[in-house]
Amino acid sequence: MTANDPIASLISLLARLPGVGERTAARLAFHVLEGDEQYADALGRALSTIHGEVTRCELCGNYGAESRCAICQDPRRDESLICLVAKVQDLIALEALGTFRGRYHVLHGLLAPLDGIGPDQLPLDSLERRIVDEKVKEIIVATPLSVEGEATALYVSDALGSSPVRVSRIAAGVPHGGELEFTDQVTLGRALEDRRAVR
Ligand SMILES: [Zn+2]
Repeated sequence: MTANDPIASLISLLARLPGVGERTAARLAFHVLEGDEQYADALGRALSTIHGEVTRCELCGNYGAESRCAICQDPRRDESLICLVAKVQDLIALEALGTFRGRYHVLHGLLAPLDGIGPDQLPLDSLERRIVDEKVKEIIVATPLSVEGEATALYVSDALGSSPVRVSRIAAGVPHGGELEFTDQVTLGRALEDRRAVR
């Protein structure tokens, strides 16, 4: 195969996706090539438009098609309760429970000083603004129970020290270091329900 071989180039692009090695990339590329052409077109269109059509919610950082996401636009959600998550996939896992009626704030990361991610890289100013604007009573910190997740939880509860808001942390039970998005629903539901006050 030459450098501008379309199959080789598709394989090398697919191999850059997380969890996809060269062999899986080749299997996927041949699957697309040998399958339905309409599917390949639809896949290509979905990939090429995703950045243009999806935007981050100006309030909470969730993904959506408009400047405010569906959750922030929903008047039935309790705006006095905010669940702080590391990423949108965790929000989706919590939403799948169907029991949480508050809103979210998505950090799009965790404190990781060794990787150069400090508090300035996280949207904590906007969280503090929301606490005032939305008269927030409680922040549930649902970052993962990993080193970075715990460090972020600690930092956030200290940073909100001067605010009258209640800060709570999801209970243990989510596997240590485990990703919320891969935690089963019963465990995740219990972790949310059994949250403990941090201050
Ligand atoms: Zn939102």
